[in-house]
Amino acid sequence: MIKRNLKVFVDFDGTITINDLGEEIFRKFGKTEIVNKIIEDLLSDKISSRQCWDQLCKSVSKIDEQELNDFIDRFDVDPTFISFVDFCDEYKIELIVLSDGFDLYINRVFNKAGLTGLKYYSNKLFVDDSGKLSAVYPHYDANSPTSANCKKNHIINHSSDDDYTIYIGDGNSDKEAAQYCDFIFAKNGLLKFCSINKIGFYPFNNFDDVKNKILELLSKKNLKKRHQAELKRKSAYIAE
Ligand SMILES: [Mg+2]
Repeated sequence: MIKRNLKVFVDFDGTITINDLGEEIFRKFGKTEIVNKIIEDLLSDKISSRQCWDQLCKSVSKIDEQELNDFIDRFDVDPTFISFVDFCDEYKIELIVLSDGFDLYINRVFNKAGLTGLKYYSNKLFVDDSGKLSAVYPHYDANSPTSANCKKNHIINHSSDDDYTIYIGDGNSDKEAAQYCDFIFAKNGLLKFCSINKIGFYPFNNFDDVKNKILELLSKKNLKKRHQAELKRKSAYIAE
């Protein structure tokens, strides 16, 4: 097998987990109609992701932290993700999780699955002194409205011309970032977006599908990068 540098970027909600925990938390503790309307506004590009999270936080009145943690503990990672992490270790493939969700639940879900050493970037969520949910966005970039944690910037900062980049995702916050990667694994909303915009991708159901396709790619003599992704990365490197 030819030695190649592979970098894998993975979305969290709906990709590593089956459910979207960010949304589930607000559906559980907020008012369904209000929450649905805010998410609808996000998906029709009426509001940015950051505006969406801020509005969702405002829509929830006081919250009990223990109750919140108990709710989070009902969710797990997709079991195929655990063996995918081992596979990446074995093949020395760097794996970075890029989430437009929140550290508060990502930590809990990873700890429960025994995945404590994974590198991830996300927004931050906490219960403030008045008992309200509050969010902060340490990786926000106003030029990237579809993800309050600018996933594209993390890809640019963590890759070079020598790398083959892989993106795995399912939704709105992956639309921009995926376009900067050479190989895209898509399901649900991201799959629709790639199809409509004629962006090449591999459909997947779980991480076993991804692993098998990566093994196939690694066995190829000539592995071509996606030209449109190279152009996008180049213009981003120049802009820096
Ligand atoms: Mg997602």
